Amino acid sequence: MTQILDGKALAKTIQAQLTTKVQAWTPRVGRPPGLAVIMVGDNPASAAYVRNKERACDRVGIASFGQKLPGDTAQAYLEGLIAELNADDRVDGILLQLPVPRHINDVTLLNTIDPDKDADGLHPMNLGRLVRGEPGLRSCTPLGVMKLLQAHNIAVAGKRAVVLGRSILVGKPMGLMLLEADATIDIAHSLTANVTELTRQADIVVSAIGRPNFLTPDYIQPGAVVIDVGINRIETAAGQYRLIGDVDYEAVSPIASAITPVPGGVGPMTVTMLLHNTVLSYCQRLPELSQEHRTLLS
Ligand code: NAP
Repeated sequence: MTQILDGKALAKTIQAQLTTKVQAWTPRVGRPPGLAVIMVGDNPASAAYVRNKERACDRVGIASFGQKLPGDTAQAYLEGLIAELNADDRVDGILLQLPVPRHINDVTLLNTIDPDKDADGLHPMNLGRLVRGEPGLRSCTPLGVMKLLQAHNIAVAGKRAVVLGRSILVGKPMGLMLLEADATIDIAHSLTANVTELTRQADIVVSAIGRPNFLTPDYIQPGAVVIDVGINRIETAAGQYRLIGDVDYEAVSPIASAITPVPGGVGPMTVTMLLHNTVLSYCQRLPELSQEHRTLLS
């Protein structure tokens, strides 16, 4: 029987746990945790993601300090805004919604975020902590994948894992997190020769390439765990749109031991890990919650 790794259900459970914590801590601290999502321009997909994040914050009791800015906003203005949010004691997490318009240097902006408020875990300090195996804020999507594996008691230590994709957002931190959990890893990219030779030997395959139905049964060894990070918007024959992953789910699920659906797998976990990171930063910044901070890190 293939185990379906239901990210939607797990996300709901984790969000309920966070809500209970936030309800208990807010009166004690005198304020709720706060998250500022900065969005520049009017990319419809980004707008939907930001709405989703703000709704999730509301559900959990996190205050939103969102900033939706026009597409022609200057780099200097954004740097100033991030400096203000860094200094604002009500804000525990800051997230720059990517992609940003071409005239904006996103790397400079990400590096301007206070590493202790880096809700997306993309600051070099936090990526460095990951490389060193030190505690810190971790990138939301790969952290969500690790939580999914953990919650379903899927062993990672000693396993062979292949990650498809090497982006700083998903692929690289994913590989490092699996390595941190004692897997032996390969990271494949668009120039990797004979990807199937790697994936067919893997106990765990994580795909984050953004290519619809790319992974067919030829890529997967029977019994492997298959994690589909990809989100691809495709047009149906009826002229409508639907979301599918990188994995040919119908064909691969019968041979996998466990698999994430799209939608409803990794996606809901990404948003939940953003909330988790915001609450983690809140605890880290408040000495009275230092014990709770240690618990959340474990
Ligand atoms: P990205 O920055 O475009 O990176 C894609 C990566 O895939 C690149 O490293 C690329 O290699 C590699 N690649 C492309 N074709 C390949 C192939 N045939 N074989 C092996 N590797 C290949 O994308 P991203 O931001 O990492 O996102 C990847 C996918 O995950 C997208 O579909 C995105 O929508 C989705 N996503 C989902 C979530 C979620 O919450 N579920 C979160 C973030 C992203 P090169 O480096 O050589 O170009």
